[in-house]
Amino acid sequence: MLTGKSALVTGSTSGIGQGIARALASQGCRVMLNGFGDAADIERLRDGMAAEYGVTVAYNRADMTRPEEIGALVADTVAQLGNINILVNNAGIQHTAPVDSFPPEKWDAIIAVNLSASFHTIQHSLPHMKTGGWGRIINIASVHGLVASANKAAYVTAKHGLVGLTKVVALETAGQGITSNAICPGWTRTELIEPQIVARAQALGVDMEEGGRNLLAEKQPSRQFVSIDQLGQLALFLCSAAADQITGTALPVDGGWTAQ
Ligand code: NAD
Repeated sequence: MLTGKSALVTGSTSGIGQGIARALASQGCRVMLNGFGDAADIERLRDGMAAEYGVTVAYNRADMTRPEEIGALVADTVAQLGNINILVNNAGIQHTAPVDSFPPEKWDAIIAVNLSASFHTIQHSLPHMKTGGWGRIINIASVHGLVASANKAAYVTAKHGLVGLTKVVALETAGQGITSNAICPGWTRTELIEPQIVARAQALGVDMEEGGRNLLAEKQPSRQFVSIDQLGQLALFLCSAAADQITGTALPVDGGWTAQ
């Protein structure tokens, strides 16, 4: 479905981003990986994906808190993959604390990675999409782009902002073959939420599995984690022709969290 297309997936060295990068590559898309981690592990990942899917897979370590590195990342994507047709803004970090004791440096970092980075990637990518008359921008927001939870001031602010950015870009690109949508996952078992499961398990004096179940029970009516594969498949759908007229949306994948 995506043979000949090129995608940049930020924060794709683990979790949801890696799953979406794999889903895109499985459909013949060239992929630029980005994110942190052990250099040898990332090279194994890059090389393994290229072999498994038979597509070009590149890697750039750009730090999403640094606008100049983001510009260079988009330029490197175009240089190595020939274009940038699909942009998945996925890199994200979390910190939980009440607002009156929230460390300002954590606020700045979360706003930079979870919100401002997407402005910069979009700004640098759009000219290429407009030239080709086709583009897909997929912002990995969160249920926290739609509703709030206590102790997540920076994260909720950034994700609400990302949903707003998604809508503005949709309006500015409407009718040009480009769509801009946000995916809003509920609890998905990745490294990002591991500290919250640990904290819950310790507070209740239970094991990690029971800590996870307790976390789900509080917010996610299905009481099941969203799977990375389900998010990858939704990203693929948004890249399909069936989704040509879906733009400016924020799609919850949350087991009923935001229906409450
Ligand atoms: P993760 O920790 O597994 O992945 C985060 C990725 O971002 C990693 O590849 C990491 O290296 C990268 N990253 C972090 N800081 C970076 C920086 N400064 N520059 C470049 N890359 C950076 O977490 P995940 O759960 O897969 O999160 C992916 C996205 O999904 C995030 O935006 C997160 O907010 C969102 N999300 C996750 C959940 C969940 O329950 N896991 C729910 C809703 C939304």
